[in-house]
Amino acid sequence: MIFSKFQKRFTEESGIVRLMEDLGDANSGQQDVLMLGGGNPAHIPEVQQFFQERMLRIASDPVEFANIIGNYDPPRGESQFIYALVDLFIAEYGWDIGPQNITLTTGSQSAFFMLFNMFSGDYADGSHKQILLPMLPEYIGYVDLGLTEKQFTARLPIVEKLDDHFFKYHVDFDQLTLNREIGAICVSRPTNPSGNVLSDIEMDKLSTMAKEHNVPLIVDNAYGIPFPNLVFTEVKLKWDKHIVLCMSLSKFGLPGVRTGIVIADETIIDSVVKMNAIFSLAPGSFGPALALDIIRSRDVLSLSKNVVRPYYERKAKLAIQCLKSELDGIEYYIHKAEGAIFIWLWLPSLPISCMELYLQLKQRGVVVVSGNYFFPGLQGDWSQQHECLRISYAMHESVVERGIKIIGEEVKKLY
Ligand code: PLP
Repeated sequence: MIFSKFQKRFTEESGIVRLMEDLGDANSGQQDVLMLGGGNPAHIPEVQQFFQERMLRIASDPVEFANIIGNYDPPRGESQFIYALVDLFIAEYGWDIGPQNITLTTGSQSAFFMLFNMFSGDYADGSHKQILLPMLPEYIGYVDLGLTEKQFTARLPIVEKLDDHFFKYHVDFDQLTLNREIGAICVSRPTNPSGNVLSDIEMDKLSTMAKEHNVPLIVDNAYGIPFPNLVFTEVKLKWDKHIVLCMSLSKFGLPGVRTGIVIADETIIDSVVKMNAIFSLAPGSFGPALALDIIRSRDVLSLSKNVVRPYYERKAKLAIQCLKSELDGIEYYIHKAEGAIFIWLWLPSLPISCMELYLQLKQRGVVVVSGNYFFPGLQGDWSQQHECLRISYAMHESVVERGIKIIGEEVKKLY
């Protein structure tokens, strides 16, 4: 069989495919795997109970049940849910938005596919533009989204070493100049994989740069405020006509319903709505149905702030404590845990590549993600690309502890 370039483009060796396959293998229960790899959120009892009760109520009402599973939503997504989101964002932040500024997508991952290809690649005037990632490392899921080659250009961070085996990345604004080859800027905040949270000052500077150059600033808020609020520092959330804010119900606890939310200028939203219709007819109905009440009542905010955030903050502390005691005696750095669900571990002068370490750990039944996958658009080489692991702490504490113990054993053997 002879396939097209399209098939070739999307079936080459890919970090996100490997990650999702590892996740699937671990969840199938056929192998005894300590899964510290994928981006699955924790199963938080209060959140699960809320959605279980909501699901039972839906199942017991034949009209609501039939509406939810028996009809397509419009390509923008379920209207009441969108109105509820508009009300929430106006009440919380006073943004000048209406339903015309929001669309749902089939998970935020598919929003990035549409947005990145809207703002990079070949333009009518013959130019070729790229998405600028101002600070590597960045999310593994961006890497393969381009319909054209070389979708990203990226900059390395300033690395600040802190006390007590911690370090932190900062945007290196001296390296950040925009030219006509940049179609959009994109950051994840909190950042996957590092757990960094860009400061308000960094965000304001990026926003000003984007506005001045008339390109959008795409903010990946999958872990951000106001929900799921996996942010352990105090930050502000801003929106403006040149900002494209991408959110998701996944990390709040609903990855299975595949609901992404995009808030942007009407012209951008209109384009995404049309693409939704063409690519998938409509976003799924189940996420909006499950989450409508919680958005309307604003319980999503209190649950995020008082349950979800402290839950992960505690897990981050435990995982870091555990890692520190297992790695005692060697040189290592942990990125300051400011948000998301991962530890970003930097092992300077690691005797083998982090990819080889990933494979050795897999042999021992521990799945992490090799750091090399988080450098889309990197020009040349950077030592940290071969010296880092992303370790999720979302799983049950005993799984995280056992996994980290084995990571400690394997790493110590190498030094
Ligand atoms: N952005 C970031 C930073 C993520 O970590 C993820 C998932 O892990 C996504 C986007 C995509 O999430 P979803 O498609 O489930 O909304």
